[in-house]
Amino acid sequence: MNLTKLQEWLQDSGNDVAYISDPTTISYFTGYDMEPHERIFALFVFKEQDPFIFVPALNVEEAKNSAWNGDVYGYLDSEDPWAVIADKIKHRNTTYQKWALEKNNLSVSHYQLIHAQFPNANFDADVSDFIAHIRLYKTPEEIKQLQAAGQEADFAFQIGFDAIKTGVTERYIAGQIEYQLKVQKGVMHESFETIVQTGSNAANPHLGPTMNQVKPNELVLFDLGTMHNGYASDASRTVAYGEPSAKAKEIYEIDREAQQAAIDAVKPGMTASELDSVARDIITKAGYGEYFIHRLGHGIGKEVHEYPSIVQGNDLVIEEGMCFSIEPGIYIPKVAGVRIEDCGVVTKNGYEPFTHTGKELKYLPLRD
Ligand code: MN
Ligand code: MN
Repeated sequence: MNLTKLQEWLQDSGNDVAYISDPTTISYFTGYDMEPHERIFALFVFKEQDPFIFVPALNVEEAKNSAWNGDVYGYLDSEDPWAVIADKIKHRNTTYQKWALEKNNLSVSHYQLIHAQFPNANFDADVSDFIAHIRLYKTPEEIKQLQAAGQEADFAFQIGFDAIKTGVTERYIAGQIEYQLKVQKGVMHESFETIVQTGSNAANPHLGPTMNQVKPNELVLFDLGTMHNGYASDASRTVAYGEPSAKAKEIYEIDREAQQAAIDAVKPGMTASELDSVARDIITKAGYGEYFIHRLGHGIGKEVHEYPSIVQGNDLVIEEGMCFSIEPGIYIPKVAGVRIEDCGVVTKNGYEPFTHTGKELKYLPLRD
């Protein structure tokens, strides 16, 4: 599986050892998920020997019973983890000199501690880009998990729409969503903190949820997602509570047109930059280009944000199996904000979204 690709990369790039330090990457290669906090959690992969994972002693049993079938070594809080790691590696092979690190993850202090154990080794190589590259292409099994996470997001929207009434706070609505996801869907946790924004709060894309109360005749913006078997969902919908202003309705329709045009335009062979332009041109021509203040989308998988970045100037060619969001937004400070977002997968000739909640402007009746 994926670990074989990493071993091939070691051979091809002339490196002896890969030290994988990012828990998400370890989960990607081993199927074992763990949050080590300040303790040490690592995967060591060798060009020709068996890999092993290294965990705190209190996680050894759990790791052995996980999807990972390889060796597991632990260390006690009273031990020096770096000395234990060095001992296990020297036990396998004493001549390893060329190490590849996850430079976009490993802290400088951890680098210095491992380096001190192998003072003559070379630590120049970076395996981060290779890992980001293979994670660009999702397997059918990964796509299944992303679709299941998308269904949970669709359920969450329904809970959120039903929770809207005059006077309730953004935090109350977010709380209802998260509570019902746990109770009804068994969701362990969200992929990021649920965003609920009423009225002009929605003009600040990442704000809240605050103690702002729902008022009649405003837009309400939701941006939410769950983790499903280690895969994330991320989706946004904006709905009307009562009858919003003409301006609010106008920007909603422009955003919806831009989002749909981008979804319809996705084709293997086009660049990320070209796709961004499809939505951006529509919003710009309508006179709101300066209010679309972020890229069109981002990759999704084990993390809410990964590659590819769907942004102006990115010449990366879109290919089948890539998964990313399409999420144009229009944010007019102190007036209103709209974002409509789906994540989906690039198919042979198009794009299949993971979320299906309707995008015609939904008018919710006023409720006390
Ligand atoms: Mn997103
Ligand atoms: Mn989002």
